[in-house]
Amino acid sequence: MSRVFNFSAGPSVLPMEVLLEAQADLIDYKGCGMSVMEMSHRSQMFQDIIDTAEADLRDLMQIPDNYKVLFLQGGGTLQFSMVPLNLLSGSGKADYIVTGQWARKAYQEAKKFGDIAAAASSEDSNFTFIPKVGRDAFRPDADYVYITTNNTIYGSRFNYIPDCGDITLVADQSSNFLSEVYNVEDFGLIWAGAQKNVGPAGVTIVIVRDDLIGHAPENTPIYLDYKIHADKGSMYNTPPCFSIYMAGLTFQWIKRNGGVAGIEQHNLEQAKKLYDTIDNSKLFSCPVETEDRSRMNVVFVTGDKELDKKFVAESKAAGLLNLGGHRSVGGMRASIYNAMPDEGIDTLIAFMKKFEMENK
Ligand SMILES: *Cc1c(COP(=O)(O)O)cnc(C)c1O
Repeated sequence: MSRVFNFSAGPSVLPMEVLLEAQADLIDYKGCGMSVMEMSHRSQMFQDIIDTAEADLRDLMQIPDNYKVLFLQGGGTLQFSMVPLNLLSGSGKADYIVTGQWARKAYQEAKKFGDIAAAASSEDSNFTFIPKVGRDAFRPDADYVYITTNNTIYGSRFNYIPDCGDITLVADQSSNFLSEVYNVEDFGLIWAGAQKNVGPAGVTIVIVRDDLIGHAPENTPIYLDYKIHADKGSMYNTPPCFSIYMAGLTFQWIKRNGGVAGIEQHNLEQAKKLYDTIDNSKLFSCPVETEDRSRMNVVFVTGDKELDKKFVAESKAAGLLNLGGHRSVGGMRASIYNAMPDEGIDTLIAFMKKFEMENK
């Protein structure tokens, strides 16, 4: 068996311990004679799995009792539609901060459902920074304000929580979920696709305050109404059982590693090492404003497209995989999610130094 260092933006690296645990349980889950993939979602065995996963997540994020935790399908992309469908229940207005492609997709999708404004955008500078906005940027009667806390493609991150006053704040945390401490009460709704920091693709986690549930229009397709999932404990229909099980294993792994605060500290150290290498290099540079840099997706370039290609090809040959930037951006991107081992960071840094020596 050989493992590479996988810098993929998603689906992405999972903790070795989690994979080994899943492997050990795969054929015969805890003596029940079948795998989690094969068991009824109505069985007590699976009920225990989903209940434990939810309890561990509540514990990790200190989710208050007046928030529901939902395990849904449809990926992050379905939330681009579900959020406006369910939350545009007052004025029908919502204000989006457009800080990358995912934010823009969410913004465009929401326009199908109401009066949607871009309160701020960094598109003109190719999303290399996060706009600093305060309460006056938002329409006072907006039903919600929408942000993407970490921009997976451009490698930027909100280093502040916008002050929205009484307006509900919604956050797409897909690519930095459980990677840093957030106060859930700052948000009305947080959602995240699993395949960046939590587990295999297939489950999307939604954390939503009770009062925001139950206002979808009458003709809302049943799966798209948060209420049905909240009322049925995410079991209205067959949930993505195996992905939920894997997410649960990851939650326990985070608990064993100092909780979210412990993981955050570790992520900060890893990101700092990598950004220091970039900043101290004469070859590489990071296009993102220093204070807005992501701790999860580290974007860098040489300034020469051919050299970037060479870097990606040679790093791959050295066992460092998926370092090519998003197809829309080019350059390089190292996604260093929670599960990236220190050895992966150190190997990448050594490779960058060697590459610089050879190509100056
Ligand atoms: C990956 C990603 C999405 C989209 O997720 P899908 O599950 O592919 O629909 C949305 N937002 C962010 C920030 C992402 O990183």
